[in-house]
Parts: sequence; structure tokens; C-alpha cells
Amino acid sequence: AKQQGKDGYVVFKSAMHSQAVALLQLENDLRRALDRQEFRLHYQPIVQLQTQKIIGFEALTRWQHPERGLVPPSDFIPLAEDTGMIVPLGQWLLQEACSQMLHWQQQFPHETPLSICVNISSRQFAQNDFVADIRQTLTDFPIARSSLKLEITEGVIMEQEETVAEKLKQLKAMGVRLSIDDFGTGYSSLSYLQTFPVDTLKVDRSFVMKMGHPDSREIVKTIVMLAHNLKLDVVAEGIETQAQGKLLKEMNCEYGQGYYYSRPVEHHAATNLLAKSQSD
Ligand code: C2E
Ligand code: CA
Ligand code: CA
Ligand code: CA
Repeated sequence: AKQQGKDGYVVFKSAMHSQAVALLQLENDLRRALDRQEFRLHYQPIVQLQTQKIIGFEALTRWQHPERGLVPPSDFIPLAEDTGMIVPLGQWLLQEACSQMLHWQQQFPHETPLSICVNISSRQFAQNDFVADIRQTLTDFPIARSSLKLEITEGVIMEQEETVAEKLKQLKAMGVRLSIDDFGTGYSSLSYLQTFPVDTLKVDRSFVMKMGHPDSREIVKTIVMLAHNLKLDVVAEGIETQAQGKLLKEMNCEYGQGYYYSRPVEHHAATNLLAKSQSD
């Protein structure tokens, strides 16, 4: 039995070893991926629930790995954060997203210009030159004022409370808008909603998914009311069924996104969705 245990240990150790090697390999690949142009942005429409018209997109990063195929962001974003790669990657995707939005705004002029939402991770936001980078991007790709929206989680605000106020003030002055991503899953304190210039709450997908249950339905209803009382927009994430969309409309939730309307798609497909949305 002892022998077996020992073997078991050896097997375990070698499995850990190969896992570590794989992670190291992925990290190396990640470092090269930017130069090799392996990252792509996909765009998921955000719709006005009442009309189902597209009012903007969320940009979501995809990594087309030469051997592994499509690597999901849940596998490489945390790694990019740990290694610092998120900074150059974040700069790239912000430029890519704004460049694409500039095309769309020229091709599809709206009274209220289409908006583009970009996810910002904690380490990226913490950079000293984060605001300067955004300013430069908006100079290089002069999209309509107020059409860039940054999505951050409550965690980013709470962890960096001292520096966050000044950054958000500067961003606000540039016309950049701010969304709280995954709202309802993070910190219990809501006081930051008064202190910081937040524009939008994004109701986390986990609540929308479970809206069949009265408890989740009440939570969603409460978030929508809270947002409206504070004069914030509210976007429901992860709408997969017509029934969920209908419930949200009844709760006066104005905007939504989810597979029911469209999965995240590459830019050609997104352009087609826009053309269709405009002609409907
Ligand atoms: P997130 O910001 O909450 O993005 C929404 C995620 O939900 C996306 O997953 C999207 O594809 C997925 N989704 C949208 N609608 C539905 C639906 O109806 N049903 C279901 N089951 N899922 C839906 P994705 O693209 O895999 O991204 C996962 C997370 O990775 C994102 O969560 C975000 O935190 C992070 N991420 C993605 N792109 C970037 C990026 O460019 N920068 C940073 N910092 N993070 C990113
Ligand atoms: Ca997001
Ligand atoms: Ca989210
Ligand atoms: Ca999320």
C-alpha cells in the first residue's frame, strides 16, 4: 500500500509539473501573441430592449492560438494580468475598438452615436499613464464624445480608492463614461455610487439567468430601481431567452445584451447586424 501511495504521489507530482510547464508555455506564447497579431476583438451588440435596436457594442477579446485554437478570455486575461501583459494588450484593444467604432460612426450616423464598451482590468486601470493613454487614443481615433464607455468592476474602485477619484474625474472631463460591470456580485457597500461619476450599472448575468426564481427577479428589479433613482442607465447582461427580455422590459430595464439578441461576433458580422438594425 505504501508503494502505491508513493506512486500516486509521483504521478501527482508529474501532473503538477506538466501543468506548470503548460502554464509557462502559455505565458511565453502570450508574450509573442501581440507581435504575431493573434488577438482579435469580437463585438456583442447592446440593444434597447423596447425596440431591439443596437445602441452600441461591447468589445470582447479573443486569442487565436496557432496550435490551441481559440483560447477563452477566462484562460488568458488572468494570466495577462499576472504577467503585466494586460498593459500592452489593453492599449492595443482600446485602439482597435476605437478605430472600429470610428468606422461605424461614419458609416451609421445616429442622433445618439453608437457607443463602444471596453473592459478594463484592475492592473490596467492602476497604471500611472492610463488616463494619458485614453486621451491619446481618443486623439488618434476621434469618435463622438461620450461614446467610449469603460467597464470596470466594483473591485477596481474599492482596491484603488485613493487614486481612483482623480482618474475618474479626468476621464469624465474627457467625456469618457463609466460602467460598473457584474453589478451585484462584488462589494456590499454602495456609497461609491455617490462618490464616483458612474454612468451605468450592468446587472450581472448570474441574476438574469435565474430570473425564473422570485428571489433573483426581486434582485434584478431592485437594481433597476436603484439605477433609475440615481439617474444611471442600466444594462442587463446574459439575456438568453425571449421570456427574460420580456421580464426585463416589464421592469423598465432599458438596455440589454445576450445570446438571445446576438453572440459576440467579428466586425464584418457586427457591421451586418448594424445595417439590419438600422433598416428595420
Ligand atoms: P464580462 O465583461 O462580464 O463579459 C460578458 C461575458 O459574457 C462574455 O464572455 C460574453 O461572451 C458572455 N455572454 C454574453 N452574453 C451571454 C449570454 O447570453 N449567455 C452566456 N452564457 N454568456 C454570455 P467572454 O467573452 O468569454 O469574456 C469573459 C470575461 O473575460 C469578460 O466578462 C471580461 O471580464 C473578460 N474579458 C473579455 N475581454 C476582455 C478584454 O478585452 N479586457 C479585459 N480586461 N477583460 C476582458
Ligand atoms: Ca464587461
Ligand atoms: Ca459582465
Ligand atoms: Ca463577468
